[in-house]
Amino acid sequence: MGGNWPRSVIVVGAGVVGLSTAWFLQERGVQVEVVDRGGVAAGASWGNAGWVAPGLAIPLNEPSVVRYGLRSLVNPAAPLHVPATLDPGLWSFLTRFAANSSWRSWTRAARAGVPLNDESIEAYDVLAANGVSAPVIPAPITAAFRTPRQAESLLHELRRLEAVGQHVEHAVLDAAALAEQVPLAGQALTAGVRIDGQRYIDPGAFVNALGKAVMQRGASLSALEVDDIRADADKVVVSSSKGTTLSADAVVVATGAWLPRLARRFGVRVPVRAGRGYSFTVPVDHPIPGPIYLPGERVACTPYRGGLRVAGTMEFRGPDAPQVAARVEAIIASARPLLRGVHWEERTDVWVGPRPVTPDGRPLIGATKAPNVYVAGGHGMWGIAQGPITGRLLAEQITTGKQPEAFADLDPLR
Ligand SMILES: Cc1cc2nc3c(=O)[nH]c(=O)nc-3n(C[C@H](O)[C@H](O)[C@H](O)COP(=O)(O)OP(=O)(O)OC[C@H]3O[C@@H](n4cnc5c(N)ncnc54)[C@H](O)[C@@H]3O)c2cc1C
Repeated sequence: MGGNWPRSVIVVGAGVVGLSTAWFLQERGVQVEVVDRGGVAAGASWGNAGWVAPGLAIPLNEPSVVRYGLRSLVNPAAPLHVPATLDPGLWSFLTRFAANSSWRSWTRAARAGVPLNDESIEAYDVLAANGVSAPVIPAPITAAFRTPRQAESLLHELRRLEAVGQHVEHAVLDAAALAEQVPLAGQALTAGVRIDGQRYIDPGAFVNALGKAVMQRGASLSALEVDDIRADADKVVVSSSKGTTLSADAVVVATGAWLPRLARRFGVRVPVRAGRGYSFTVPVDHPIPGPIYLPGERVACTPYRGGLRVAGTMEFRGPDAPQVAARVEAIIASARPLLRGVHWEERTDVWVGPRPVTPDGRPLIGATKAPNVYVAGGHGMWGIAQGPITGRLLAEQITTGKQPEAFADLDPLR
């Protein structure tokens, strides 16, 4: 390549992060080839809650999460679930996660997220205005609580976000205002916080539309499980276990919760683990003006194809492990007493997907120690909100050689 920017890039992973990177690389004239072992949106990018909610992109690693984690060891219905038998890798990940669950690390992660959150919606607007044809719907997200006191902890986090430079427009709701805003709210919910200026999507539909746009702009998509990546100063060679090889000037590894498998050998030592979440769709009696958040239960509800998509739980298990029915039951048991007019028994589309979680709450985006090998992932709970802006900034880095300021604290080699 001799100092020039790459003319061709292979993107491994057709989730929201990989496809956004592919799209913004194409904007810069790069020829792209996308590779995914399971097709478009085969990982976390399909059944998630679809919130493009920069105002709620709050790092996970706050101190109370450790208390939650400990509680989950004795109570399998707790919103955070850690299996009683841990592999050594998971044990070391959780130890690092616990060590990072302090307000100090939280603040660092929150600060690092600000530049991504600031431009999250704008990056969606760019995609929408240029041929990615799936709706991105403006709506407030309403957090609902049993007591006004419980609402305080969210308000406290919003104040902390404000202190690191992320202003979140919001309003406190009393029981009557909550009932008006959220027709599904049951009587047990007496307080709310309305987060204004957010968006939501049908993530499967959106990511498929993004994939289609990338293809229409000249990319190819190969169904391939990448097993190995070799890189030198001139080119990268990506190969599958079946012996297929592809080559290009550069590669972006955007394999979500599977990131370490391909990225570790390029000096990416920060572990990424699957914080698995579940979702399903239920019919509802009342129209839903926008998403509903039950922070105490860690459950997210989103208008979805005329019904409600209910998403929740965080289970640290391998990204390819089968679904555990008890996790879905736990979501229902926690949300049922709080919502009315929801037909829980008629649920369809039960899904599990791996959030790519890092122990310090910061994603891994940028160059690795190998020439022309980049990684983009580890967005945890907020890859939908932050995927397009990640792709936009990473494409800038790949084609200019300059690290955007927004990535300063997201260095994959930290
Ligand atoms: C229940 C739930 C609710 C969520 N709600 C929200 C929300 O409301 N808002 C939000 O912002 N975020 C949300 N998230 C998080 C969000 O879904 C993720 O952060 C995001 O989808 C991660 O995108 P990604 O592209 O990094 O990974 P993925 O979408 O997982 O994509 C990785 C891709 O890599 C492929 N792959 C892996 N290994 C290989 C290999 N060796 N060779 C080829 N291909 C490979 C996989 O098949 C997969 O398609 C939620 C997550 C869950 C589970």
